[in-house]
Amino acid sequence: MEELFAQSIKDLSGIYHFSEDELKILEDADKAADELSESEFEHYIKREVNPDHAKVLAKYKIIGASVDKKYGGRGANPLVSVLIKERLGQLGMGLSSFVNVQMFLGEMMIQRWGTEQQKDKYLRPAVKGEKILAYGLTEPEAGSDPASMQTTYEKKNGKYILNGSKYLITNGSIADNLIIFARSKENKDEKSAFIVNSKSQGFSISMKMEEKIGLFTSDTAMPQLDDVEVGEEDLFGGIGNGMHIAYSGLMNGRTGVASASIGVIEACLNAVLERAKERIQHGKEIGKHQLIQNHIAEIRQNLEMARWPVYFAAIRKAEYEKDPNNKELISELDLRISLAKKIASRLAFESADRAVQVFGGFGYSILSPAGRLFCDSRVARIYEGTDEIQTLKIAEGVLGKDFRAFR
Ligand SMILES: Cc1cc2nc3c(=O)[nH]c(=O)nc-3n(C[C@H](O)[C@H](O)[C@H](O)COP(=O)(O)OP(=O)(O)OC[C@H]3O[C@@H](n4cnc5c(N)ncnc54)[C@H](O)[C@@H]3O)c2cc1C
Repeated sequence: MEELFAQSIKDLSGIYHFSEDELKILEDADKAADELSESEFEHYIKREVNPDHAKVLAKYKIIGASVDKKYGGRGANPLVSVLIKERLGQLGMGLSSFVNVQMFLGEMMIQRWGTEQQKDKYLRPAVKGEKILAYGLTEPEAGSDPASMQTTYEKKNGKYILNGSKYLITNGSIADNLIIFARSKENKDEKSAFIVNSKSQGFSISMKMEEKIGLFTSDTAMPQLDDVEVGEEDLFGGIGNGMHIAYSGLMNGRTGVASASIGVIEACLNAVLERAKERIQHGKEIGKHQLIQNHIAEIRQNLEMARWPVYFAAIRKAEYEKDPNNKELISELDLRISLAKKIASRLAFESADRAVQVFGGFGYSILSPAGRLFCDSRVARIYEGTDEIQTLKIAEGVLGKDFRAFR
């Protein structure tokens, strides 16, 4: 098993008892990451989406590991799920984005909010890697403020008719089904969610985001909905529940980004350790120069600072899942997840920056792990809620809801 990942499991074993089943899931996540590593590199440097993500994660039963056994998953709790994402995050944010949307925002949301019919139709195949999912909240004019969304629905002849554009949607052009958020045409304050089939008439991709500055193995696209018909059976979570569902999804997504950020820091550490022992300048290994040692020590410190807030949020999330109506716990968790996401994603970017420095000129190329991690990690401070939004949520968490700085 990869050494830093094994160390995380060992460290956590002091405060959490992993069952045999859980250790097997983590072993499988490790094998899946090993198997994907080469193709992730090859597709990254060609700047193309990696088609192996679903195939390999399904082979090791990781693609739906967090889902209940009842629906074909492995019932991994939030802590085990965080560790899965940590290991996959070592391969960069491309793979991690795929998993975040497929499992944390797609499958876990359908498990939480879907009808039994929706679980049979969408969740069970997704857990086997047979259906790819996406989560369409952001729009060109509604990012940090998703409640200002312009995509509309209206009911006609027993069907919902959706119109609008979604923007920057991970898995957008490869998804079979997308959870799409929209507002009522008659009442802009009523928001609802729908499961949309990408083969529906009127559904198209108006643009693929191919000019990204990293994350090359992940698909990002702009779905367009022109009079897309959705049957009553694909209304998701009930009329008027859209924002509630969207925010519960973001809590999962943020935990996922934070966990992957730990993996990025681990990958930075592995990369600089190898480079520092190999590269010779001024007659000795660069790892023997004290200023390089400073970068390495800082990355190791970052790892320590990043992982515990994430693990602790996950442990509290497990409590919350047993008691989802406990309002105090929801507020505490909201704060903990924002702390974890902001801390881990900033430290991941800082670590990648230091890794580039240790690598020198080669670090400025995506042929080096440092260069790839640097390009990828920047997005963690933006998606699933920017640094600024997390800052405001943290302030609200400590000042109280009366001080909420945004709606
Ligand atoms: C690669 C990638 C993949 C993505 N995948 C998905 C996906 O799968 N599904 C999805 O729905 N979305 C996705 N997103 C969208 C992402 O969640 C948004 O980009 C993000 O929420 C920020 O929105 P925005 O880009 O519109 O920025 P804006 O909201 O326009 O923000 C611009 C700047 O203003 C700041 N700002 C905004 N409001 C405030 C405020 N009240 N106070 C202080 N500062 C503020 C922001 O922090 C930011 O610095 C993805 C984005 C990227 C880059």
